[in-house]
Amino acid sequence: MRIMLFSSQRYDQESFGAANAERRFDLTFQDTRLDLDTAPLAEGCEVVCAFINDDLGAPVLERLAAGGTRLVALRSAGYNHVDLLAAARLGLDVVRVPAYSPYAVAEHAVGLILALSRRLYRAYNRTRDGDFSLHGLIGFDLRGKTVGVVGTGQIGAVFARIMSGFGCQVLAHDPFPQPDLEALGVRYVDQDQLFARADIVSLHCPLLPDTRHLIDAETLQRMKPGVMLINTSRGALVDTPALIEALKSGRLGYLGLDVYEEEARLFFEDRSDLPLQDDVLARLLTFPNVIITAHQAFLTREALQAIAATTLENVAAWSAGDVRNRVEA
Ligand code: NAD
Repeated sequence: MRIMLFSSQRYDQESFGAANAERRFDLTFQDTRLDLDTAPLAEGCEVVCAFINDDLGAPVLERLAAGGTRLVALRSAGYNHVDLLAAARLGLDVVRVPAYSPYAVAEHAVGLILALSRRLYRAYNRTRDGDFSLHGLIGFDLRGKTVGVVGTGQIGAVFARIMSGFGCQVLAHDPFPQPDLEALGVRYVDQDQLFARADIVSLHCPLLPDTRHLIDAETLQRMKPGVMLINTSRGALVDTPALIEALKSGRLGYLGLDVYEEEARLFFEDRSDLPLQDDVLARLLTFPNVIITAHQAFLTREALQAIAATTLENVAAWSAGDVRNRVEA
């Protein structure tokens, strides 16, 4: 069975190659992003394997279905980029990898917090330049700080446990509280209380119509002055221009982003030789208290192995008539 992997990088070739050693699917790796122009490349491929910034809107799905594709195997947990109603109408099955390593993403969020709170990126650049001074590097202890976790699913729960280990008071908001986190001392509160009381807010909820721009000018105004915001979830959870205003006023004291609303045409590519066309991102990158990583929170050896293994298991099960990890509208 032929599987075409769009947006594939060298690390995908390595992890999928290893996971395919026993299965012997016919894998074709495309480094190009899936969109209406590139969809014809999948002509005759029963299975298309897509990543988070591939275009899986109705026109692209129609083109894939017309070319013989029957299964879209997402090598991600998130599926907000798929037009599921169109897929159902076209008879396309959609499957995903519901869990690979929640530790990868949760630990990256913690990495962003420490890099910001201890200004590690400034220190790194400074000492490499022979400047061993400490001015401007004053940090703060995490112990005793209040951390607000929005969404305590797989990733948010791991993150809440790690932050409890630092001696933080952890507040959480989720429509489905987890009793084992409560037993650990995590307190579930409503969203308003979380925003009002947290020194650090970290987003771990999915992008849904009601969570789009969950963080905007109005919610930022309700947060503590100097608050730290971390988003490793999905870019559109925050209204990015509102972040810029809050950084300028000092309302937002620190910002760590692994995701960006307009990342689809930017991230995962080396654009260092090109002028940055995105003025919002360019402005964000001028602030000394902002760190942006290009959607790398998932990128650990363990997560890549799990993504490849589960994706190929999903395809094998589907071809045997057993649709596992199906995503439905
Ligand atoms: P999950 O489904 O296990 O958990 C999401 C949680 O959010 C659930 O408990 C749900 O009840 C809760 N939730 C839903 N709506 C909410 C709301 N309005 N307010 C508060 N909580 C709400 O998902 P997960 O695997 O923990 O992933 C979390 C997010 O991380 C997803 O959006 C996913 O896309 C993103 N993610 C990012 C990366 C990366 O590399 N940066 C990698 C994997 C996942």
